[in-house]
Amino acid sequence: MEHPENDDLYRGLKVNKGVADVPTVNPYLKKKLRREYTPSEFVEGILKGNITILSQAVTLVESAKYEHQQIAQEIIEKCLPHAGKSVRIGITGVPGAGKSTSIDAFGMHLIKEGRKLAVLAIDPSSERSKGSILGDKTRMEALSREKNAFIRPSPSAGSLGGVARKTRETIVLCEAAGFNTVFVETVGVGQSETAVHSMVDFFLLIQLAGTGDELQGIKRGIMEMADGIIINKADGDNIDKAKLAAAQFKNALHLFPPADSGWFPKVLTYSGYYNLGIKEIWDMVGEYMEFTKKNGYFDYKRNEQAKYWMYESINDTLRETFYHNPAVESMLSSTEQQVLKNEISSFVAAKRMMDLFLENLSKK
Ligand code: GDP
Repeated sequence: MEHPENDDLYRGLKVNKGVADVPTVNPYLKKKLRREYTPSEFVEGILKGNITILSQAVTLVESAKYEHQQIAQEIIEKCLPHAGKSVRIGITGVPGAGKSTSIDAFGMHLIKEGRKLAVLAIDPSSERSKGSILGDKTRMEALSREKNAFIRPSPSAGSLGGVARKTRETIVLCEAAGFNTVFVETVGVGQSETAVHSMVDFFLLIQLAGTGDELQGIKRGIMEMADGIIINKADGDNIDKAKLAAAQFKNALHLFPPADSGWFPKVLTYSGYYNLGIKEIWDMVGEYMEFTKKNGYFDYKRNEQAKYWMYESINDTLRETFYHNPAVESMLSSTEQQVLKNEISSFVAAKRMMDLFLENLSKK
């Protein structure tokens, strides 16, 4: 195109014809992203310890899409024979107790011993963050740089049962990928401890010393689940307070009935931040493993857990199938209204809905 600045007068300022806009996305990249692995390729990659493939498989496990679930289940099934060989540890504590700092410290200790560590999380309330509160890599700075550590945030919000099931399935994939230690972290504020407890071998409760009435705030159930209570921030001026808290916890534990495992929970003090007392914590876990493997409790518990998850999955599926059945969906709210208006009793209403469901079961 002619341009006034192409005149000899402006030599040196030659204006060239422009090029069409370049695409912002590399067309080849798109193609590559769309390349999908077959379930067998996934399994092969996982068994080789390929972290990228492992991550993608976990994404499928977490997906709500039916076709993703189909592939995920096939991968899990093929990985199962290679799973089960890790030490699974649940870690809980209220926000601020020092979970991230501690996991970073414990994790680095284990990595230095040559172990491979997967850090997973269960945080069903993670709507606030879509999973970034727990498992966020920036919280575990040293670990996140380690190639032998795999950190995965909590599956994003859903029912606790759903989130927990996905984490349990992720454990299988991680173990198949060669991770011989698995941490499952949860915030110690609700029901999620029970879910974590039902998928780990050892349950660790992180506590803080402080006001002298630390025992009051903890739900009895959580203390009863703990195989080890560890008092964090035992450093500087806080050492004596931490020791005092440990003594109080020890006393309180004596009031509980003995655990089925035959193991008496230990109480230790440590500092995640200053890396003090970390080895002792890991020694305790090792001692527990040896103890429960010898007395048979380890296998017993894993079997019980497998059974529990079978029934959990059945219950989940039944509930889902029921509530997503079109006939049920179309009648549910009018039936509810009838109950509210006292036209029919709750039990009759429930029976009607169940009958309707069973009649329409085959009609999807
Ligand atoms: P989380 O919410 O349970 O994950 O807790 P964080 O790991 O984020 O820790 C909460 C705060 O406590 C942070 O400011 C940490 O630096 C601090 N903290 C964690 N562990 C220790 C410790 O062992 N000693 C001291 N003095 N502070 C700690």
